[in-house]
Amino acid sequence: MKKIAVIGCGAAGMMAALTAAESGAGVTIFEKNEKPGKKIYITGKGRCNVTNACDVEEYFSYVRRNPKFLYSAIYSYDNSAVMDFFESNNCHLKVERGDRVFPVSDHSSDIIRTLYDAVKRAGVKVEFNTTVMSVEASGGEFSAITYASGDDPVTREEFDACIICTGGLSYPSTGSTGDGYEFAKSLGHTIKEPLPSLVPFEIKESWCKDLQGLSLKNVGLKMFAEGGKNSKKPVYDGFGEMLFTHFGISGPLVLTASSYYDKDKASRLLLDLKPALSVEQLDKRVLRDFEENLNKQFKNSLGALFPSKMIPVMVKLSGIDPEIQVNAITKEERLAFVNLIKAVPMTITGTRGFNEAIITRGGVSVKEINPSTMESKLVKGVFFAGEVIDVDTETGGFNLQVAWSTGHLAGVQSTISNEE
Ligand SMILES: Cc1cc2nc3c(=O)[nH]c(=O)nc-3n(C[C@H](O)[C@H](O)[C@H](O)COP(=O)(O)OP(=O)(O)OC[C@H]3O[C@@H](n4cnc5c(N)ncnc54)[C@H](O)[C@@H]3O)c2cc1C
Repeated sequence: MKKIAVIGCGAAGMMAALTAAESGAGVTIFEKNEKPGKKIYITGKGRCNVTNACDVEEYFSYVRRNPKFLYSAIYSYDNSAVMDFFESNNCHLKVERGDRVFPVSDHSSDIIRTLYDAVKRAGVKVEFNTTVMSVEASGGEFSAITYASGDDPVTREEFDACIICTGGLSYPSTGSTGDGYEFAKSLGHTIKEPLPSLVPFEIKESWCKDLQGLSLKNVGLKMFAEGGKNSKKPVYDGFGEMLFTHFGISGPLVLTASSYYDKDKASRLLLDLKPALSVEQLDKRVLRDFEENLNKQFKNSLGALFPSKMIPVMVKLSGIDPEIQVNAITKEERLAFVNLIKAVPMTITGTRGFNEAIITRGGVSVKEINPSTMESKLVKGVFFAGEVIDVDTETGGFNLQVAWSTGHLAGVQSTISNEE
């Protein structure tokens, strides 16, 4: 019987271990935490958006980096397979807006329990409170891992194969502290710089802070990156909900935009507060509002256009005298104001850190992993699965699908690859 070590008892690790055990291997998971799936627990605001029910072809359009690398993994264990797994293990699922799939119970703990019960039933041994310290290889072939548990001396144990499922660097309190990158580096792998992604933006303009706590629904956001071939074309153009914070902006729309952000290019944003209206339509609307408030001061005429917290900011940004009577505002001033509402400018100074990033972009270079097996091209018997790999997606259940699919493929292949 092949003896396989899985490092990490998260989404990818549990799926890899389960599949390897079901394929006949003797599997041990090593997990530094005291329990399984600490990160799964906090996914989807505690509800776990376990996958996305979109057509499998559509899935790849949500993968921001290296979608082609995922073809074999996704096609061999796709979103329907994931849903079948949970449903057939009595964890019933529901599909919500945007094809996002959640457990009917709305409890991520049900996803963890279902998966962990299956892992245990398959005979996998799980060593909690055990930190893997190193992954050893000799002559281009995996040999052993070393691990430490409590006050016990470091143990070295030989295995036939090892699956590295240590996650990235985001939310390090869940155990994902980038150890897998160190293991990969020590084996000769290239690590694409890990960066926070699906993460809030820090914004230069101080008026953002004045709006902290304000949430805007149904707004448009365009992001432009300087220095590209065509810096007039937005690198991101989206619609949805955002939130002002003490450092800048957050919310679903902003997190998605961050997937397209390049820290090496000065980037700016244009916020469209009325995306449903063209400039001409908005001008007519503003004109109508002004006509109804002709004798009011400008600052007191905007109640129908913006939430009250936003009015002083928009007045200031417009450059129009707040106390001027509406009937004294010129056509040019009004048109400039309309254009401002359609494109409020903001300058990105950076992203928040890993503590606030849903995922890590970057990781073990896909060029050095066989996409059909998840095995290292440099060291036989070493496999990678999940967020440790340089693949990242938008929000919507797509990142967990990466973990399920790559974990499944690595699990199956780890039991057969050395026998070829
Ligand atoms: C707040 C938040 C919400 C999210 N919501 C969603 C969502 O709803 N849907 C979605 O698709 N994705 C979501 N994600 C992303 C998703 O959770 C991750 O992409 C996914 O969990 C990655 O799985 P993984 O198994 O690769 O890594 P992880 O889940 O990070 O698991 C890695 C495991 O390895 C262990 N480990 C690390 N180093 C060692 C070591 N040296 N020795 C032993 N053990 C080690 C860690 O303790 C950890 O348990 C969310 C992420 C966050 C932070």
